[in-house]
This record gives sequence, structure tokens and C-alpha cells, in this order.
Amino acid sequence: MELLSVIVPCYNEEENIDDFYNELMKNEAFFSSRELDVEVIYVDDGSKDGTVKKVKELAGKDGRVHLVSFSRNFGKEAGIYAGLQKAKGNYAVLMDCDLQDPPSLLPEMFQYIDEGYDSVATRRVTRKGEPPVRSFFARMFYRVMNKISKTEIVDGARDYRLMTRQVVDAILAMAEYNRFTKGIFGWVGYQTKWLEYENIERKKGETKWSFWKLFLYSLDGITAFSTVPLAIASIMGLLFCIFAFIMIALIIIRKLIFGDPTSGWPSLVCIILMCSGIQLFCIGIVGQYLSKTYMEVKKRPVYLIKEEI
Ligand code: UDP
Ligand code: MG
Repeated sequence: MELLSVIVPCYNEEENIDDFYNELMKNEAFFSSRELDVEVIYVDDGSKDGTVKKVKELAGKDGRVHLVSFSRNFGKEAGIYAGLQKAKGNYAVLMDCDLQDPPSLLPEMFQYIDEGYDSVATRRVTRKGEPPVRSFFARMFYRVMNKISKTEIVDGARDYRLMTRQVVDAILAMAEYNRFTKGIFGWVGYQTKWLEYENIERKKGETKWSFWKLFLYSLDGITAFSTVPLAIASIMGLLFCIFAFIMIALIIIRKLIFGDPTSGWPSLVCIILMCSGIQLFCIGIVGQYLSKTYMEVKKRPVYLIKEEI
């Protein structure tokens, strides 16, 4: 028998714990025909509702259910990392608790694994049911990201992914503190099969990602997988120096040839404002990387466990 580890990060998902379990176990016939044992690892990300209680109840009924409970909210990335570390399976699959990642895809995913793929990833082809502003910024993010990073990050990719032990170990070997899983998956490589499906809306409860949280997360992604913004800062500085030299030359020539009194302080104010703005912007970019380096150097644990079953 081979073992499949199902990793489910949950944050305030009490209504979804049972539904997810029931939906997953609809594959029971497939699991036994494929000779797969299953372990379900619910990673509770410091939920404030009855999530832990629900999982404990479930674990009491079914020994295949495990719980890893954090001491506070560490974010989904930490949940994924903890789950992968705890997973003992020959295969591991990441799934959201809200049934936006349909467990019914598992048999098809295993088909590709059996064909020799190392991992099977999913992407949603529509963003149905999502606020248009959010979709717009998400699209922009992927477009910019793929321009400035060598690591391929697929638009609409979900974290729903089945992978072999080899891939899991590769991901765990990346012990960085600022974890951006979408980038990490791309970075480790391996043969990946992409499955596409229409966006499925969350069954119960509400999304845990506010626009602001997503925005900060996108900055994490950029700084973790690209150093192009640092180069932008230098290039901009260089361009402005060249521009300034040309301006100075022009002013001198104008003064010498036409005897033009050097006038126009409003334009000067504009230039000063613009230059100092750009300087601040560039220092900000450096600051972003510095803060990430700072966190990385501290080597703080990615998560702390309060309780485990
Ligand atoms: N999640 C988590 N920690 C967080 C935020 C979210 O573990 O800080 C989990 C959440 O419980 C869910 C999954 O990550 O299982 C995806 O979150 P959500 O459905 O809210 O995001 P969306 O699908 O709206 O992007
Ligand atoms: Mg969701």
C-alpha cells in the first residue's frame, strides 16, 4: 500500500471541516482500487472559532485524521510548510478547506502521476464570482511577475497540487522564511501536468484574504523571486543623471549664446519634487529587500505548534 497525505490549511473554517472530509472520502472506492492509504492533515492556522474542536471530533471518529494546531495565525504559507513537513506519504496533495479545490479531481490527477509526471497542478481558467478589481490586479501581478522573474508563475494557478515524495522533499529543502509557494513550485521544476477548471465559489464562510493582505502577499512574491526592482532603482538613477547633465549643458549654452537670464523656479520645484520622490521610491525598494533579508537572517521558525494529534 502507498500513502497519500492530504494537507488542508484551515483558518476559521469550522463549517467546512466535515464537508471537506465527506467530499474527500467520496473517493474511497478510488483509493482502495489504487491501493492508497490516506492521511488527512488539518493544519489549524490559529483559528478563533471551533475549527480545532471540529477536527478533534473527526480525529476521534477516524484515525486517519490528524491535527496540527498553531499557537497563532501564521498565514497559509506556514500552514502548507507545516503540513508538508508532517506528511509521511509517498504522495502529498494540498487542498483548501472551502471545497474550492474539488477532491473529485484526484483520480484524474493520479492518472497523470502514474503516467510519470512528478506533480499535477491546477489552474482556474475563469475568475467567476470574484470582484472585478481584484481580478484586474491579480492579472497585472502575474503579468509583471513573469516579466521580472525567471521563475515561471502561472496565472490563475491554485495551490491545489498533487506531488510525489521527491517534489515534497525538494520543496522542504527550500527552508526560506519568506515563503511564496507559487514561486517555490515553479523554482523546483520537475515534470508538471496542468489541469484546468472553472472557478468554484467557496461553499461556506468567507474568504480570509482581504485586498490589502493580497497586495502585501504580491509584494512578498516579487521580492522573493525577483531582484529586478533593485536594478530598476539604479537604472532610474542613471537615467536621471543623464537627463540632468543634458539640462545643465542646455542652460549653459542658452546663457552663453542668447544671454538668457536663467528663470523659471516653478519648473525647478517640480524637478526637485520629482527627483526626491524617485529617490524615496528607490530607497523604499532597497528597504523592501533589506527587511526580507533581515527576517531571513533572524532564522525565526516559520510556525509554532501548540497541539498535535
Ligand atoms: N488560510 C489559512 N491561513 C490564513 C488564511 C487562509 O490557513 O491566514 C486557509 C483557509 O482556511 C483556506 C485556504 O487557506 O482553506 C484558502 O483561503 P481562502 O479560501 O480564504 O482564500 P481564497 O480562496 O478566497 O483565495
Ligand atoms: Mg477559498
